[in-house]
Amino acid sequence: GKRVNRMKVAVFPGTFDPLTLGHLDLIKRGSALFDQLAVAVMTNRSKKPLFTVEERVAQIREAVSGLDNVSVITTDGLTVDLMNRIGADYLMRGLRNTTDFQYERDIAAMNNFLDDQCETVFFLAKPEYQHLSSSILKEVTSSGGDISAYLPKNINEALKQRIEEEKLKQVKEHNEKTR
Ligand code: ADP
Repeated sequence: GKRVNRMKVAVFPGTFDPLTLGHLDLIKRGSALFDQLAVAVMTNRSKKPLFTVEERVAQIREAVSGLDNVSVITTDGLTVDLMNRIGADYLMRGLRNTTDFQYERDIAAMNNFLDDQCETVFFLAKPEYQHLSSSILKEVTSSGGDISAYLPKNINEALKQRIEEEKLKQVKEHNEKTR
């Protein structure tokens, strides 16, 4: 019947400020498991992101350019609404530790309450990426640490550049206040 040929479409929502190799590993594994994978940059999550949504979309597009069943989109509002709009049955998320697990279990239950067709699929983080988070990488870069081993090349460059800009902006603000 028709169901046999049904394409498996998944969405991977996140803030990705910025995308790390931990995220990218999940995207590669999701791309192998599902027929179509949409990485969805959530516009309503992080209050003061370092990169604009447009910047993050461009960065992720470059990082996933070799994966032809992966698309990059933006969304605000409920993930289940996005899933209905694009016809996705699966919601992909990553688990690094028990803190992630408890939080993600509650989100999955809530999404299932909002739409009982929504099936959340969890990927365990690779051991070498378990300790990675976008916020830790931003902090370390800001303090001068080299974390290029954990970021796609284009994003490592963008992160260094943006942090330098932020520092100059702070100097500028200081100078304007003391004028
Ligand atoms: P959010 O604000 O939605 O948590 P993030 O960009 O922080 O956005 O994370 C998006 C998803 O990627 C989450 O499911 C998170 O658990 C997962 N994730 C983050 N870092 C890693 C990593 N190093 N390895 C595997 N999964 C990760």
